[in-house]
Amino acid sequence: MNPGKPFTCDEAVARIDDFLDRELSAEEMASVAAHLETCAHCAQAFAFEGHVLDDLRGKLRRIDLPPGLVDKVRGALGGRDPEA
Ligand SMILES: [Zn+2]
Repeated sequence: MNPGKPFTCDEAVARIDDFLDRELSAEEMASVAAHLETCAHCAQAFAFEGHVLDDLRGKLRRIDLPPGLVDKVRGALGGRDPEA
């Protein structure tokens, strides 16, 4: 197989769901991405599908995090904000 070889439109569209779900191999992800860079039509289709999926995921994963939790996690990871 030829790594990084762009897919055709049919090949890219056939993988749209798996691409957005990140269930493709790294090689296939690269081939889809390479095609999207050269094909405005598919790029638009993928962007639309991605927006729909992101919207759906956002609704499913809407969880109220306690205020300050993100900062605490950052601190625990050693990433103290130098500007604080
Ligand atoms: Zn295309």
